[in-house]
Amino acid sequence: MNNYLKDSGLFFKEVSLGIHGNISDKEIIQLTFNFALGCERLLKGILYDINPTYILIEPTFKNSLRIFYSNKIIPEIVHDKELPSKPNSDVITFNTCILRAQFISKTTLQYKNTLFAISNARDIIAHCELKLLDKQSLKEILRRDFYAIINSYADELKIRKNHFYDSQRVNFSKSSGILRSNLEKGIKQELEDHKRFWSLSKKNESFIKDSKKRTEEILKRGNTEIVKCPACKNDALLYLEPYFKSNQLRLLRVTTGYVVKEFRCLYCNLGIKNPSILDNLGLRTIKESCARCGREIDNENNTGLCSDCEDYYGKDG
Ligand SMILES: [Zn+2]
Ligand SMILES: [Zn+2]
Repeated sequence: MNNYLKDSGLFFKEVSLGIHGNISDKEIIQLTFNFALGCERLLKGILYDINPTYILIEPTFKNSLRIFYSNKIIPEIVHDKELPSKPNSDVITFNTCILRAQFISKTTLQYKNTLFAISNARDIIAHCELKLLDKQSLKEILRRDFYAIINSYADELKIRKNHFYDSQRVNFSKSSGILRSNLEKGIKQELEDHKRFWSLSKKNESFIKDSKKRTEEILKRGNTEIVKCPACKNDALLYLEPYFKSNQLRLLRVTTGYVVKEFRCLYCNLGIKNPSILDNLGLRTIKESCARCGREIDNENNTGLCSDCEDYYGKDG
């Protein structure tokens, strides 16, 4: 087991020990922070196992050689100025970890929206006013989703669960299972209600025409994607927020993508913002956004840039 995977257990154990029936606001902040630090390490561990350079901000040959394989460099030239004397060992952010790991880790893809919510909370705790935290939603994520996510990673990575939490906490794992089945029941009911609404309104032709027109209009504004509505099966909207990190070394492709902000169906009026529900219904996107401006990519050139930004850099760049 690599050190990232090993160290993640330290943070998850702290979370597990702190989860109880009535978590206080102060505890929510600390537990969420530990949860985020654990997830970030876990995802780095998954990427590292496939290819260590996947976690570096600067994965170039000489830099990664110096960072990960210094002992392989021929002793006569190990201090040569052609090799970086101060290599850049900075590693990618939590969000970038999610956007990369989603392609190779089923659990990451399955809980992507929840992981983004945890990452966002982590950024608020580290840099912003704490009142911006949605504490109620975080409390639910801790009590209901923590064990589900960790158990899923343990199964996926074939790591024993007691690496992530003590076996004495198994009761909390069970109560999280009950909370999750309650969530699923609630979702099922909600879908039924909206299905009923649709079955009543689908006879109204002007309503359908209007819903179609409004959906197309919103889609044209950008940062949206069409998905099939889980209730009425019509074309519904995912509202997206681009995530991108511009890189001073522009020749290096940076990982970019979208965070789902909301789901909305204009045919049956179903609307969802809760990340756990979005995950439960598989409402997500793996679309990439422009690495320079964050806008939607409107070409198939595979440069990671939109047409405007390609023009800005010139076709050869
Ligand atoms: Zn619908
Ligand atoms: Zn662009």
